[in-house]
Amino acid sequence: MKDRLLEAEGANARAGPPQATERVLPTMNPDGSRRWLRPKPSQGAFWARRRIVAYALMAVFFLVPYLRMAGRPLMLLDLPRRQFTLFGTTFLSTDSMLFMLLMVSCLLAIFLLTAMFGRVWCGWGCPQTVYMEFLFRPLERWLEGGYNGSIRFDRRGGFQPRRLLKYALYAVLAAFLAHTFLAYFVGVEELAKWVRRSPVEHPVSFLVMLGTAAAIFFDFAIFREQTCLVACPYGRLQSALLDRQSLIVAYDARRGEPRQRGVVGRPESAGDCVDCGACVLTCPTGIDIRDGLQMECIHCTQCMDACDVIMDNVAKPRGLIRYGSRDRFEGRPGRLLRARVVLYPLVLAGTLGLLVWNLSARADTDVTLLRAGGAPFVREPDGTVVNQIMVKLTNRGSADRSYRLELLGTEGAHLIAPVNPVPVAAGAMRTLSVFVVLPPRRMPDDGMPVRFRVSDGLRYSGDFAYRLIGPDRESHPGEEGKE
Ligand code: SF4
Ligand code: SF4
Repeated sequence: MKDRLLEAEGANARAGPPQATERVLPTMNPDGSRRWLRPKPSQGAFWARRRIVAYALMAVFFLVPYLRMAGRPLMLLDLPRRQFTLFGTTFLSTDSMLFMLLMVSCLLAIFLLTAMFGRVWCGWGCPQTVYMEFLFRPLERWLEGGYNGSIRFDRRGGFQPRRLLKYALYAVLAAFLAHTFLAYFVGVEELAKWVRRSPVEHPVSFLVMLGTAAAIFFDFAIFREQTCLVACPYGRLQSALLDRQSLIVAYDARRGEPRQRGVVGRPESAGDCVDCGACVLTCPTGIDIRDGLQMECIHCTQCMDACDVIMDNVAKPRGLIRYGSRDRFEGRPGRLLRARVVLYPLVLAGTLGLLVWNLSARADTDVTLLRAGGAPFVREPDGTVVNQIMVKLTNRGSADRSYRLELLGTEGAHLIAPVNPVPVAAGAMRTLSVFVVLPPRRMPDDGMPVRFRVSDGLRYSGDFAYRLIGPDRESHPGEEGKE
């Protein structure tokens, strides 16, 4: 029995690891090991257009943190202070309604874009595709001797000097991109301080930078196209976001099938596909577009360029793989107007309208007066009554301001504030306690109405009603008030 078990173990070891019998991820071999993709570039008409777009976008991604609008950053996602600035408008943590409208508008815009143009963002605009296909992969091919060179390096394996040099350059690029990326979150001024100071002086920010650079290096050097295949949720949503009229990159099976390898001796019944595999070889996600619409397809158009060259060579019309809608590929009429492309813009116009209306109605200063919790008033031994009030000031402007607080029209009462005027930095919020001291007097049952004026001495001035409270006639001096 023992001998038989040993024999079976030996047979398994000779057979190697178990093999998948079904289709596996394009980045995986049937035995579960990583399949490294080295797509062969197809430099056709779409590649040329995408390259122009990609280099323009790289410049935009780099420059946006430096651009300003109305004296504020064009885009700054200040997470520690919970403030987002977009197109010169700052959203504070108290602007949850505005922020919700903005997020819903962005989602609707993505839904609309996908319903109309498919995954055009993935193929043309996503930073993952832009940097991977037009920076990291070209550098790899240049250093490793082109597409064939990379394949040779893979076969040889081990650490080879050119590959090490590639990873060293990748590390430099990752550090540069980490600085660009973090500029969106800390601002270019803060980033400049990080860069100039020694890491010993600011270890936390240095570690944040190091971690970000390491993540970017891992993404572009190791994880690569798997970000699109297994990590990004957008690809997984496409089956819900696309419809039969959405623009996709697809293979015209009616024209291409039955595929027939080679050009010599083709039967009359053969389709236009010569089964050359060029579309598979060039695909950066390693799929065969002839298998139909797949989640892994990022609509990068590389297979279109590859197939057009083959069609030219075999004297067939271009466009066996092309842009089109599923209905058109299946010979049904196209339909521009359908429910989702009507409803999405309508709802989007509504949310954007509400957002703009709310933004235009929003003052650049927010003032909130709140009764202090616990002991909102105190009656002093001499009979005076002191009300404690919390004042919350929000400065949405682009410049620092000082707000003066005044108490209006209450005879004999005076205001005590720890600081007055109150300085509040641009885009910041400040809360402080102030006290109103009332001379001994009878307090009406429903309290005493007063008005506060808050002004910055320049553009802003606002009056706010408030009701002071105090003890009833039976209360005793020194007693703390209860509400
Ligand atoms: S199938 Fe074509 S369009 Fe889709 S990812 Fe591959 S090469 Fe790009
Ligand atoms: S590149 Fe065109 S002809 Fe070649 S296998 Fe792909 S679809 Fe067929």
